[in-house]
Amino acid sequence: MNGVDLHTHSNISDGSHSPEMLVRAAVEKGIHTLALTDHDSMDGLSLAEKTAAEFPIKIISGVEISSQWSRPSTKKTYGVHIIALNMQDPEPLQQVLRQQQKTRAARAIEICQLLQSCTGLDLYADVVAKVDGIADRITRTHIAQTLVEQGVVKRAQQAFDAYLKEGKKAYVKFEGIGLAETIDVIHASQGFAVLAHPTRYGLSATNIRYLVELFAQQGGDAVELPQRAEPAGTRQMIDRMVTLHQLKVSIGSDFHGDHMPWIHLGNVPQVKEGQVGIWESFV
Ligand code: AMP
Ligand code: MN
Ligand code: MN
Ligand code: MN
Repeated sequence: MNGVDLHTHSNISDGSHSPEMLVRAAVEKGIHTLALTDHDSMDGLSLAEKTAAEFPIKIISGVEISSQWSRPSTKKTYGVHIIALNMQDPEPLQQVLRQQQKTRAARAIEICQLLQSCTGLDLYADVVAKVDGIADRITRTHIAQTLVEQGVVKRAQQAFDAYLKEGKKAYVKFEGIGLAETIDVIHASQGFAVLAHPTRYGLSATNIRYLVELFAQQGGDAVELPQRAEPAGTRQMIDRMVTLHQLKVSIGSDFHGDHMPWIHLGNVPQVKEGQVGIWESFV
């Protein structure tokens, strides 16, 4: 617990807390620097800032962007999450996010169609109700929760394992913006580009190394440190890559609220000596 949490979700995407509740919870935890990083949306920022005005906490603008990269040798394309932080001019990024949100809405329809052919159930109306009718905000978490409520599976995790994750029947790839363009548009908005949770994409160590190198070459600013619960060897691997590519580090809990109770707001990894936190660059 060091008072900084740069990766959190509100109910603007797949978190359970409203931006106001999130800020209040962060204050109670002693967090003084909080980034709200909803999936492909910055729509919670103004509410978070409004709430924060009453408390000793600074809100950093943020968003977790569904991006993609590929390895020329294998021609395969992989999804990756890039966190944008501390934008001074949100407009260039907002334009890209509007497109990402359209992609999200269209993908949700496709996923629900595939689910209908697997389960016989038309879930779309219930899914949209979960995001107050704003289809741009639908994530696979909302679809998984709907599958639980309809009794198709017992737990959200089972919905991913049986239907929603890559390779399963209702998986639809997110056709997001490419990695280089993501980093460029974040910089156009005068923000910092952070490679989110590099060890949580199910990539081989070789591919993680390739991704971190590509991210650094394309001008990325910082890598998110693995969570405390991840193995020491995983952390050492990332520490070595951070040093090799002279990247800064970011720390965040990836808090989602009540439906992921094992993730605690403000529970972030420790920064090693010699590592430079991206938050030290915030204006
Ligand atoms: P989306 O951006 O719509 O693809 O949804 C991604 C979100 O779904 C992530 O941010 C996680 O919160 C959740 N998620 C992704 N993969 C899994 C999984 N295998 N098990 C449980 N939750 C997952
Ligand atoms: Mn999520
Ligand atoms: Mn993520
Ligand atoms: Mn996240």
